[in-house]
Amino acid sequence: MNKIKVVTTLNTEMIDITAQVQELVAGYKTSGSVCSVFIPHTTAGITINENADPAVRRDMLVELNKIVPEREYFTHIEGNSAAHIKASLIGSSVTVLIENGKLALGTWQGIYLCEFDGPRAREVWVQVINSI
Ligand code: ZN
Repeated sequence: MNKIKVVTTLNTEMIDITAQVQELVAGYKTSGSVCSVFIPHTTAGITINENADPAVRRDMLVELNKIVPEREYFTHIEGNSAAHIKASLIGSSVTVLIENGKLALGTWQGIYLCEFDGPRAREVWVQVINSI
């Protein structure tokens, strides 16, 4: 397993980690490999979405904040239940096929670490699985 370290700087943000993941899979030239990208945190998530217009990321975060605002009736002692809920909505991993040492992503796709309770030091765990 490989680890990518990311230091987030905002409370809520989406950070493109595609290049760091790509570096880790570059040596896998045979077909039949997949890459699992997992975040071992409960207030951050991993997703794939558009990498062209940054407004997409901004709109996603604005909408997630509307869907899951902080509520006075939340009972979690740490006070960050909204971040926990958003992390579960986004999910904690993605799987990407690898073709000729490259992530097989769509033209406009990037892999994002989604921070919901930053700033924090985060890790992303990456494992390549070979089927051949
Ligand atoms: Zn908590």
